[in-house]
Amino acid sequence: SDGWTYAPAPESAAIAAVKDRYLPFVDGTFVEGHGDDAETFNPGTAEVLATVSQSTTADVDTAVAAARRAYEDVWSPMSGAERGRYLFRIARGLAERARELAVLECLDNGKPIRETRDFDVPTAAQHFFYHAGWADKLGHLGLGPAPRPLGVAAQVIPWNFPLLMAAWKIAPALAAGNTVVIKPAETTPLSVLVLAEVMADAGLPPGVVNVVTGAGDVGSALVNHPGVDKVAFTGSTAVGRGIQHSLAGTGRRVTLELGGKGANIVFDDAALDQAVEGIVTGIFFNAGQVCCAGSRLLVQEPVAEELLAKLEARAQTLRVGDPLDKNTDVGAINSPRQKAKIDELVAAGSEDGAHVWRSSCPVPERGWYVSPTILTDVAGSSRVVREEIFGPVLTVETFRTPDEAVAKANNTPYGLSAGVWTEKGSRAMAMAGALKAGVVWDNTFNRFDPTAAFGGFKESGFGREGGPSGMAAYLEEQS
Ligand code: NAD
Repeated sequence: SDGWTYAPAPESAAIAAVKDRYLPFVDGTFVEGHGDDAETFNPGTAEVLATVSQSTTADVDTAVAAARRAYEDVWSPMSGAERGRYLFRIARGLAERARELAVLECLDNGKPIRETRDFDVPTAAQHFFYHAGWADKLGHLGLGPAPRPLGVAAQVIPWNFPLLMAAWKIAPALAAGNTVVIKPAETTPLSVLVLAEVMADAGLPPGVVNVVTGAGDVGSALVNHPGVDKVAFTGSTAVGRGIQHSLAGTGRRVTLELGGKGANIVFDDAALDQAVEGIVTGIFFNAGQVCCAGSRLLVQEPVAEELLAKLEARAQTLRVGDPLDKNTDVGAINSPRQKAKIDELVAAGSEDGAHVWRSSCPVPERGWYVSPTILTDVAGSSRVVREEIFGPVLTVETFRTPDEAVAKANNTPYGLSAGVWTEKGSRAMAMAGALKAGVVWDNTFNRFDPTAAFGGFKESGFGREGGPSGMAAYLEEQS
């Protein structure tokens, strides 16, 4: 709808474009970090993909100082219309380099090329297009006639949607007039560093966006830096909780997007074949490494047997394997650490008495793969039902009444997403009102749009990204 077209560059050129070594981006240039180099791996093959120069705490200081200068001297005094033009240029730059970015994201993260090509990269570009439009309309957000930017934003993102999470964070921050220091996850820094190239090519003034590299110690130095005015974090609930503690009393604005344990609820009047597709998308998209995954299937008793049979038959058809193959449905798990966590939780479920169904699709010998897995006969108290698995693993429970479905769905400390499958509109609306989840999908799952606010209830965090409230998270209201 926004004239999206794919760049014609052949894939081999995109693979060849992957560099041996990448540098952090500070004050408009790619500079050596002062830490030891680290390697990033291709999860599809378990081979080293590239070496990345690592930032240190001192490099974080330099980046925050550059962001402060850019904020004071260039970016916040600039008119919104002019800022918007930079955002449009970044969006177009992403579109122009779409093929290269799709391949790079696939290689660094392990997700299938079909997903990076059709979802991650175009959705990232859409976020820049959408927020470009807000830059000269801040007075229309309902935050008074002239809302003010916050200053320097520290942003820390996870590895499951590296480019897209960067777009979610950077686009609203810039549209609102803030400057940014962002840290991608240590296992997936590459696409964000290419985004920095796109921003430099768009002529973005030096210091407006800085990318530091490294692990949690660098992230901690960044979010706790006294020169930072706003912290935006996406990642695990445990780390988010720690950040909230350490920032308490500092007056710094914080938004947190944390974990989830989404319920996908199927009523007996649902279109079952359609529901099966939604369940598959809900838990096998990005191999389930999705904070809003529909990881708990709740199905009404009369259709439970039929739905499960259809679901297992469909899951068996999914092709697991080489992320670069356009026929692949389920790619690799991002790291051996994450694969070990998934395997450990499935084993715990089995020990708790769950029946484990697993697709028999052959998987490559090298690389980190987990086949689609469905656990039935699970106890509500079992770890597999309570903890976020972050893998292609679905638990199945049944219910009799809508009230029982709501009670089970809400019986979790998380509150990010839910799905409801029913042909009755009144029931869908009543369920949405009863479910404690930041997004409730009706007869669909895992749909995203920059106009819609995304974020969690309860321990899934607070604050929203996308839509007008996502903009508000980067502005101060002034009367
Ligand atoms: P993580 O919390 O371990 O790491 C996330 C990021 O934080 C990484 O960049 C990491 O280097 C950094 N980090 C680690 N320790 C830090 C510290 N003490 N201070 C500052 N930064 C620190 O999470 P992960 O394993 O990379 O990501 C998976 C988690 O992220 C899952 O729980 C998932 O649900 C969540 N997630 C949430 C959303 C959402 O929008 N709600 C989106 C994607 C992922």
